[in-house]
Formats: sequence, C-alpha cells, structure tokens
Amino acid sequence: MRILVVEDDENLNRQLVTALTDAGYVVDSASDGEEGHFLGDTEPYDAVVLDIGLPQMDGISVLEAWRREGRAMPVLLLTARDRWSDKVQGIDAGADDYVAKPFHMEEVLARLRALVRRAAGHASNEITAGPVRLDVKAGRVTVDGQAIKLTSHEFRLLSYLMLHKGKVISRTELTEHLYDQDFDRDSNTIEVFVGRLRKKLPDDLIQTIRGLGYQIIAD
Ligand code: CA
Repeated sequence: MRILVVEDDENLNRQLVTALTDAGYVVDSASDGEEGHFLGDTEPYDAVVLDIGLPQMDGISVLEAWRREGRAMPVLLLTARDRWSDKVQGIDAGADDYVAKPFHMEEVLARLRALVRRAAGHASNEITAGPVRLDVKAGRVTVDGQAIKLTSHEFRLLSYLMLHKGKVISRTELTEHLYDQDFDRDSNTIEVFVGRLRKKLPDDLIQTIRGLGYQIIAD
C-alpha cells in the first residue's frame, strides 16, 4: 500500500514517514501544499495523510482540488486541536476522516488501516480467500489455520491482491502501489515476487491473467 504524507512540520513529517514505513507501507512525502497536490494528482496512492495548515496551498484547497480533478483516494486530515470549523470544512471538502493534533501515532495507523480497507470494500481487518486468511492489522497470514511466514514484500503484495480480490491487477499497478518513486520499475521483479509468494500459498490462489496481470478469485 502506498501512502502520501503532506506535512510541513519537519519533525512530524519524519515521524509519520518512519511509523508508516515501519508499519509496512510505502511512503512518499511532501512538505508544502503545492508539492503535495502535484504528487497526489500524478501518483496513485492508497491513502493520504494531509495536514490542514500548509505553506503555498493549504490542505483544504489541496483536497478540494483533488476531488474536483476526480482523485478519490481516502484522505485522513490532520487538524488543529479543537478547531471544529476545520473538521467541518475538511469533511465538506471530501476528507474521509481526521485526527486532531497532537495525536498518538497508533491512532493515525488505525484510522489509515480502516480507510484503506473500506476503500477496497472490506468491513473487517481479516480478509479471506479460500483457505487463506490475512489479518491486515496483525500482519499475519494463515493457510488452513496454520501461520505462514512472509517477507514484508510478499505480505504487501498478497495484501494488495487480497484487498482487491476479484479484480485483475496489472504488473504496473502493483509496481506503482508497492514501491516508492525511486524503485527500479522493472516488471520482472514483480514476477519474481509473485513466484516466491505462490510457493508459500495453495496452488492456483494467484492466477495469472495472460497479458493483463494477476487475480485472486477464491471467496
Ligand atoms: Ca502545518
């Protein structure tokens, strides 16, 4: 899952990037509204953490511009404490949720997990496909009740495919959502990861759709 952080407070920006990276997300960050707007408009993110008070373009304007341009990714707003007017404005502008500063990092992580999950149409942290059960929150995967060990790359890949179960996901989409901008975007790398992941999972769980990408079909 790829997340964009837009926050001008350097310390807070760094803390968010570190916490999200540790939680297994791929993270890009921006420190002003214009750069944030540009990234959100040109790169595919699974969610955005957006501060309201930003230089050059404030968070509400960034959000309004994205929604006008048809960008529908879930947005978690960071608002000043007790500024209820910020919250109302934010929700009106198309925010999906907000957290008031100062916040506990755990709350941001929990809200983001819920946003990403809901955006993909799942009501709980557990997603199943046949004998495979993936717990997004715990970062755990079981097959027929037995835990299996995955690397963080493999877990991200499987999470993405399971969150979008039933949809054909192209190699390009996987590359864009699973790696940051600096990644060498060679689609063979994805094939290698899918190959390794398949060895740990039931046969045929991840189907190759020739010329299009990959798909998990099982209920
Ligand atoms: Ca700020």
